[in-house]
Amino acid sequence: MDSQNVPVKFNINDFEPIYYSTTGYPEFWECVYRDSIEHFSKIWGKVGPLYFFLIKINGWEPNLNSQQKPFAESKFIRKSNSNLEKEYCRIVNRSEKNCVNREGGNHGMSWSLNPNTMVITMTMSPYQDPIQFVIGPIHEYMHAYQTVYGYSEKAVASNQMGQSLWRGPSWWMEGSATFVSSLYCYQNPVLFEDITDRWDWEAYSRDLNTHLNNYKKSRKTIQQGATYDDWNLLENENLVHEIIYSGGSIACVFLIQQCRSLQKFMEIFPLIPEIGWGEAFKKSFGMPVEAFYMKFQKFVANAKVSKETPSEKESWCGFLKER
Ligand SMILES: [Zn+2]
Repeated sequence: MDSQNVPVKFNINDFEPIYYSTTGYPEFWECVYRDSIEHFSKIWGKVGPLYFFLIKINGWEPNLNSQQKPFAESKFIRKSNSNLEKEYCRIVNRSEKNCVNREGGNHGMSWSLNPNTMVITMTMSPYQDPIQFVIGPIHEYMHAYQTVYGYSEKAVASNQMGQSLWRGPSWWMEGSATFVSSLYCYQNPVLFEDITDRWDWEAYSRDLNTHLNNYKKSRKTIQQGATYDDWNLLENENLVHEIIYSGGSIACVFLIQQCRSLQKFMEIFPLIPEIGWGEAFKKSFGMPVEAFYMKFQKFVANAKVSKETPSEKESWCGFLKER
């Protein structure tokens, strides 16, 4: 098939993201958010074209005592919400009204192919969950990363985008985004320097053990969270979070134990557009996906949930404690 007309050119280097926000958005939180993206992308590459929309919605209760100290200028492009919406539609080349999801508490990435753009929109309140302004942006940025490294011409031409052959199963998409963002933030405490919340071992271990507990209790396996159809089935059972997010991140704990560093873990991404996800997986983690599913089941069975106290060094996730 002639794939010449298929536009699959995303940038994997040197794209400066463009940041938008609602007029009156708290500048402090714009800076926290942007600094998190800058810190991460300096190391792993600036993918794009990528646009951020931090949208202020009604009903936020500003906490004036918290984190109002003077800060660098955020340099976001500020517009009213209705003008932001127009700008959004212009960028993704869509004319429909309401193409921006303005529901409160959302954070997500979407992409368009004509033109090639990725957009991350955020409507969460910084006053409710400040940590989401540090870890959250990296989670969404990981989806941009997965997108850029999933759009090989081959993948599009052979119509395999909807399949797990190129981009990876759902548990991998959400699991790696969740896992990499929280580990990276744990390894870089400087990201929390300006806010009062901490992401130390106590917090990180609690988070990991909550995921393990969720996954164990679901009595299903990540194989049941691979395809688009799986996602819908799990949604009916209210188990998307348990299998795809929690199971997926625990799977990544097991996988990083095999390859031993975040550096090695991240090396899978550039391989995917060349050889597909399955082969890239085998090359990165030293085993075929089927063998991994078997070993992972044993890993989970042996892992003990520790919620009251942080996991010890010898425990299932303890090797992550050393920064
Ligand atoms: Zn996600």
